Amino acid sequence: MLSFTIVLFAGFSTVSASYGELFQQFNSSTFELMRFLTHGPGKGVAYNWLAALVDDFGSRQVGSENLEKAIDFTVSRLKSEGFHNVHTQTVPNLPHWRRGDDSVTLIEPRRHRFNILAIDGSPPGDVTGEAVVVNSFAEIANYNISGKIVVIVEKWSGYGITAKYRRAANKEVVKGALGILVKSVTPFSIGLPHTGSGSRGSSLPSACMTIEEAEMLERMFKRGRKIVIRMHITSRDVGKVSSRNTVFEITGSTYPSEIVLLSAHMDSWDVGQGAIDDGGGMAVAWHALNVIKHLAERDRRFRPKRTLRAVFWTAEEQGYFGSKIYYNNGSTKGAEKFFFVSESDQGAFRPSNWNSVLRFQGNEFQMKKLDEIVKIINNYGIPLSVLESTDQGDIGFWAKEGVPSVSYEPDKGANYYFYFHHTEADYMTIFNDGDLEYTTAIFAALAHIIGNMDDWN
Ligand SMILES: [Zn+2]
Repeated sequence: MLSFTIVLFAGFSTVSASYGELFQQFNSSTFELMRFLTHGPGKGVAYNWLAALVDDFGSRQVGSENLEKAIDFTVSRLKSEGFHNVHTQTVPNLPHWRRGDDSVTLIEPRRHRFNILAIDGSPPGDVTGEAVVVNSFAEIANYNISGKIVVIVEKWSGYGITAKYRRAANKEVVKGALGILVKSVTPFSIGLPHTGSGSRGSSLPSACMTIEEAEMLERMFKRGRKIVIRMHITSRDVGKVSSRNTVFEITGSTYPSEIVLLSAHMDSWDVGQGAIDDGGGMAVAWHALNVIKHLAERDRRFRPKRTLRAVFWTAEEQGYFGSKIYYNNGSTKGAEKFFFVSESDQGAFRPSNWNSVLRFQGNEFQMKKLDEIVKIINNYGIPLSVLESTDQGDIGFWAKEGVPSVSYEPDKGANYYFYFHHTEADYMTIFNDGDLEYTTAIFAALAHIIGNMDDWN
């Protein structure tokens, strides 16, 4: 590994002359910080922190006892670790949907029980009907779907675009149908369905199927076979529920009211153990602050001038409920000023190539500064670049009002992450050695530099 680093240094030496002030000021301390995380005492720490949470508490769906217990456990750990301002914020009035013992069965041309997961918000229902299989919303117009079950076998075109099909039950175009089945929103499958939000407010029972079974129905339909399906969904809304955002920080020494935010979400779906979505994001935000706190106790260069704050949102999966409450009640209208906001929610994987990006929203001065910071990270041997984007998830509220924002998307975040996303396979097993360390190194570098630099311009 050492020789790898040296080679990269040699490779970058020609451009180091163009490095600006930030490089002079922060390159050596940031190197020490990243070294501590990837090759020093910081190695393995985030993994063990996350394992203790997700192994002992499991999946953390809004409305579950697991979620609230996981929050309590996290708060008590944060307090004993000596973070500042450790508290929770109540997020009331959340949708509380509970999965039942749902089944979807092929009746004709043969009997077969499908592997499905109902879509969040689906009402209960017991319907049997002939299936119409389509590849897109546009194709639905070619068929009479009245009294039928619409099966959508859409093409994967990246998560952002494809996920609209999971919201099919709420589209005008399926009016008159009996029920909706959607091919899981993923580019790859080994026989697992993926759940997610999308059916709240619809009267049609709806579920996601595996790629394999959805494509089988597509082939049968194209051969002209009559397909009859029974959907027996018992999942249902059981009223409203409250949950909590979890907040902690290292209070800034010079500008305590200027906030540098690292964030991820605590809640997950009810399947798997919510390790990659979004346990990894939490582990990374926690460990970045933890290591800075540890180093700051020994070396004043690491003491942040601004407040480094982490928030673990609740109810992200149902539609950013936690971050919205935090934004609305929050400090933007008070004495606090958000200087920078960030999140990791697309896989805390180690970058393995230059498709790894920080999705950035902000102005050109901020972009230039961020580019400089990323060069310091590159200098350590981490391939990463900055990409302008308005897709900022939980931190979108701040991004929209002009706070510079960053969402981390490693190369594995574009497709690989979605192999496991919202499935029974979302376990610690997905993380490899180095994933959490290198992702933490990126966020620790951002927090260290942005927490101490002069300004954005
Ligand atoms: Zn997520």
